[in-house]
Amino acid sequence: MTGSLSRRDVLKTAAAGAAAAAGAATFPMPALAQNAGPRVVVVGGGFAGATCARMLKWLDPRIAVTLVEANQTFTACPFSNEVIAGLRDLKEQQFGYNKIADDKVVTAFDQASAVDPQGRLVTLAGGTRLNYDRLVLAPGVDLRWDSVPGYTEAAAERMPHAWKAGEQTLLLRRQLEAMPDGGLVIIAAPANPYRCPPGPYERASQIAYYLKTQKPKSKLIILDAKDAFSKQRLFQNAWKELYPGIIEWVSLSSGGKVSAVDAASMTVETDFAKHMPAVANIIPPQKAGRIAELAGVADRTGWCPVEPFGFESTLQPNIHVIGDACIAGAMPKAGFAANAQAKVCAAALVRLLAGQRPDEPRLINTCYTIVAPEYGITVAAVYRPVNGQLVEVQGAGGTSPVDAPKSAREQEAKFADGWFKTITGEIFG
Ligand SMILES: Cc1cc2nc3c(=O)[nH]c(=O)nc-3n(C[C@H](O)[C@H](O)[C@H](O)COP(=O)(O)OP(=O)(O)OC[C@H]3O[C@@H](n4cnc5c(N)ncnc54)[C@H](O)[C@@H]3O)c2cc1C
Repeated sequence: MTGSLSRRDVLKTAAAGAAAAAGAATFPMPALAQNAGPRVVVVGGGFAGATCARMLKWLDPRIAVTLVEANQTFTACPFSNEVIAGLRDLKEQQFGYNKIADDKVVTAFDQASAVDPQGRLVTLAGGTRLNYDRLVLAPGVDLRWDSVPGYTEAAAERMPHAWKAGEQTLLLRRQLEAMPDGGLVIIAAPANPYRCPPGPYERASQIAYYLKTQKPKSKLIILDAKDAFSKQRLFQNAWKELYPGIIEWVSLSSGGKVSAVDAASMTVETDFAKHMPAVANIIPPQKAGRIAELAGVADRTGWCPVEPFGFESTLQPNIHVIGDACIAGAMPKAGFAANAQAKVCAAALVRLLAGQRPDEPRLINTCYTIVAPEYGITVAAVYRPVNGQLVEVQGAGGTSPVDAPKSAREQEAKFADGWFKTITGEIFG
């Protein structure tokens, strides 16, 4: 499945799937009141959840779909690094749910606070109780506070993570604006797995662009908790070409892992050095959003194991987990991936609710990165289930060529822009 399926394509695929599977009722169907459609509750209205809710209604309008989302406005992370660099307005990242409601998805703007898997019941913070036949959890990530000693919610007000877009994005932007020329910026990048593998390096590139053009005496150090990162060669070549002398990357084995921070004194420590940056962007380790833990679908890693045909939890039946929160084998935690998983999950739900077995899916992900205005690089892959895991289809993906001409980088930047418009249009437009 791709991130740009039109409504007509989706309906066509669904019709073909339903015809192929006619008579193949091998799964138990929910016991329904006469004329009532099955009930699906989706928690989380981001890239995964909002896609899934809408897609379900497109595939089968009889399904009663309720989307539970904590905020009335969604603020997207992709392209938020450009907001930090002052190249984009945060408003361009923000979307409402009116069009989703127009498609007859019931929207409930509240926090889901409890799940009873046996009773098939979701409780919202305001007291509303929602029964379901199938539940989809798409809560994104929560930050692991204190996994970097000293990095608390209060510390994040001085040392922003900006890993959930919104106020934190603007805070980091304001700090860069206020910083004197010649100041030091630190980005602390976590170990895998985390939301958006190329994200910290795209951010470094965008901030370096700001420093180069506005505060050229300044420097940026990436303190990394790993020894290798996504699209590394492409990034490092681009940094050499575009930002010589500005970005320094310190790998794990060179002592890059941050061992402690102190927000009061603006200190960032590793086992080998103590830095006193003007701006500290600490991206801490993450885990599935808390509701996943409360529902009993997160394992010891903090993430949610699922089967790869319909993203059903392997820990709790009738609960599906999609997007950043799930363990999707080789698929990265990305908005494109979340959208693809949501479509596969919606198609599987339609079949499961009709007592049929889900089809075997193929999923695509592409991560676009903007290294500078008109300079884009990408990594793409196709995935399929093998022995209960999503694995990469060999030879079906790849990264941008290392030696591509300027025109190719310009084109990829345009593709990135087009991707964001297409995906957000499909989900919220
Ligand atoms: C700086 C940055 C850049 C990125 N760039 C890209 C990119 O270029 N391309 C790309 O593909 N991906 C990118 N990503 C990754 C992308 O943002 C995530 O992978 C994507 O948002 C995951 O979708 P999701 O639906 O799982 O989570 P989210 O989009 O975060 O949605 C989760 C939603 O659930 C809601 N929620 C959580 N818990 C509850 C609850 N208990 N009750 C009600 N609502 C709840 C939240 O309010 C939120 O709206 C980037 C991320 C970052 C941080």
